[in-house]
Amino acid sequence: RMRKRFGQNFLNDSNIIARITRSVSPKETDRIVEIGPGQGAITEDLVGAGAKVTAVELDRDLIPWLVVKFEKDTNFDIVNADALKTDFGAFVDDEPLRIVGNLPYNISTPLIFHLLSFSGAIKDMHFMLQKEVVDRMAAGPGDNNYGRLSVMTQYLCQVIPLFIVPPESFDPPPKVDSAIVRLVPRTEVDTLLDESFFATVVRTAFNQRRKTLRNSLKPLLQNVDVASLGIDLSLRPENISVAEYVALANHLVEANKAQ
Ligand code: SAM
Repeated sequence: RMRKRFGQNFLNDSNIIARITRSVSPKETDRIVEIGPGQGAITEDLVGAGAKVTAVELDRDLIPWLVVKFEKDTNFDIVNADALKTDFGAFVDDEPLRIVGNLPYNISTPLIFHLLSFSGAIKDMHFMLQKEVVDRMAAGPGDNNYGRLSVMTQYLCQVIPLFIVPPESFDPPPKVDSAIVRLVPRTEVDTLLDESFFATVVRTAFNQRRKTLRNSLKPLLQNVDVASLGIDLSLRPENISVAEYVALANHLVEANKAQ
């Protein structure tokens, strides 16, 4: 019984499950939150390694089944909740969290940004995502896949693509290739004077990929002495590094304050 609206594609490939476990390399001292355990394919290895595991599962019909499956494991508990609305900070005791999830692809991007709002409480994250999403997250300047998702993710995290997972490894098979990615929140990030303005600059820049920054950012450049920005505005958005986006946003905040 699969529920399409919950994005349920269950892993049924023991080699892939073993590779995910090796990548996560769970330790007894780890505090792991697994998002969307489904039928427990990955959960089993995490719990077996002795890590303290909390699973967050939205589909209430799966809960009794999981409770029975892990009945004897005192290091496992489960919460019936929507991960998009979960306060991940509440799971932290002494150890920062490790997050693991074969995510429902229809909500993976908002879910990752929700998690990143707790990035100070998180040690690392391992996700199964659409390969195309991993490609966009990991891309650097000059790459066709480099865009808003790359900049917004890389500002907060180191993005490490690990391996590709074919559709046949799931039941039912999704229509696309998947990939495992590791995200490690940065302990030191360039300071943003205004986080939401940074998001606006990045979104506006990439809205029209083929235009120069001078053209696409025009609405944000009014009353600004562009020569003082120290950034070549004749470039296209895909040619600006994450650090340069940070510097650009900060400059614009300062310039607007000076008005
Ligand atoms: N981890 C399992 C596996 O690898 O076989 C299941 C993966 S399946 C792609 C995604 C799981 O996330 C499903 O069990 C689904 O019910 C659950 N899910 C969907 N939306 C969710 C949400 N908003 N919060 C928590 N879990 C969710």
